[in-house]
Amino acid sequence: MTKPKHIVVIGAGLVGALLATMLTRRGYRVTIFEKRPDLRKVKIAAGKSINLALAERGIHGLRMAGLFDEIEPLLIPMRGRQLHELDGTTDFSPYGQRPGEVIYSVSRGQLNQIMLDAVEQASDSTLVFNQEVRSIDFDARTVTMVDTLDKKDQTVEFEFLIGADGSGSAVRQSLIKKVGGQDRSEFLDHDYKELNIPAGANGEFQLEREALHIWPRGGFMLIALPNLDGSFTVTLFLPRKGENSFEQLQSPADVLAFFKTNFPDAQALIPELVDDFFSNPTGQMGTVRCWPWIFRDAAMLIGDAAHGIVPFHGQGMNCGFEDCSQWCKLLDQHHDDWGAAMQEFQTNRKPDTDAIATMALENYVVMRDSVRDPNYQLKKEIGFELERMFPQQFIPRYSMVMFHRIPYQIVLERGLVQEKILDKLVRGIHHAKDFDKTRAESAIKASLPPLS
Ligand code: FAD
Repeated sequence: MTKPKHIVVIGAGLVGALLATMLTRRGYRVTIFEKRPDLRKVKIAAGKSINLALAERGIHGLRMAGLFDEIEPLLIPMRGRQLHELDGTTDFSPYGQRPGEVIYSVSRGQLNQIMLDAVEQASDSTLVFNQEVRSIDFDARTVTMVDTLDKKDQTVEFEFLIGADGSGSAVRQSLIKKVGGQDRSEFLDHDYKELNIPAGANGEFQLEREALHIWPRGGFMLIALPNLDGSFTVTLFLPRKGENSFEQLQSPADVLAFFKTNFPDAQALIPELVDDFFSNPTGQMGTVRCWPWIFRDAAMLIGDAAHGIVPFHGQGMNCGFEDCSQWCKLLDQHHDDWGAAMQEFQTNRKPDTDAIATMALENYVVMRDSVRDPNYQLKKEIGFELERMFPQQFIPRYSMVMFHRIPYQIVLERGLVQEKILDKLVRGIHHAKDFDKTRAESAIKASLPPLS
């Protein structure tokens, strides 16, 4: 297969819109079908997080699409985690140690709008809203959609179809039904709920602005990310059932008592706690395990549709944007021979997306629990020191994920080696300055080849 002339993308979410922008900039004609209304014209209830953490992999994708300059003014740097203890004390822990080693809070809606505008500005491209995919005939290369307003069906031909329709992807379900393979969604037994800390009376931020706030409580947690208007979007992560669970929060009195016991300082900043708790949806979180991602020279999955992950590393969107930049890199390498690029894309990318799925699950325990452990803090300090001493060899795992574009699979492998080294170095010491540097050097030289 060489270069298709017309690409149909299903889903105008973050990844579909970015990929479409990149493809239009390469000269392709793109049509996107999206089941929701146009979010630039209609206020859509947040199905998912109102704001997100954007990091290096995502920024790289936005730069490649030529969109970063427009997005940069909308970003709020989050320099580290601000931990909130039960007694109201706080502790700030930086994410990185070099200038620029920060992550950014960004509005999902604003980001998506800018990308939709970019697609629309491309001469040969079309966005069609309120169109929900119902079925796909891969042999005839047609997709049937229902108009969500008038409920009428239409069948559209495609030369090449890209499924960017998120973790519940209808394209994925049709593709796997056609070719066989794996399509499993593993849901967590924890859910989430979004709440809001409004700006103060004078529009000021009521918590430290440049931080990701966490109230870690062992089996559950609350987090908050800043918005440009001075508010914070707060997310409560709780088990679905059992002790301290959503199941137990049935009445306003239950919610108020739960917050009073577990998050009294946050409660004081959430005036609409009860109303928001009962009117905002409770979201599920899961990992999508899917294979293959492609069908002959006709279709491909990308973003959450191929590899949805839990949100605890703040990487779902970043990883999806990296899919887009890797896809375009492969098109360059294969001179826009899509058939060749498709095969390599899924083969190369799957081990990386499996690795970030694992790290995202692990990071839930880190955020809600380990961050409170003095041993975790000690290892973090030593990790930073080792990075200063051996910058080509030892980079803390969080930094490798968030501030670099080292393939996730390598990050996972090196992270395990580093963790073993740190485990040995912290044994019997209480202060980072006391770790055995000679032992560290020989362990690093023996087991961590320099990164290119
Ligand atoms: P989506 O954003 O889900 O977009 C899919 C689009 O397809 C939607 O517009 C949908 O309406 C449309 N669609 C679906 N089905 C159909 C159909 N049948 N027909 C037509 N259209 C259809 N990631 C980060 O990088 N950083 C974070 O901080 C972060 N925080 C998160 C917090 C939470 C609570 C959650 C749930 C996720 C978070 N993520 C984060 C993950 C991120 O939201 C996703 O990885 C990202 O949205 C994936 O983009 P996507 O375009 O692949 O899918």
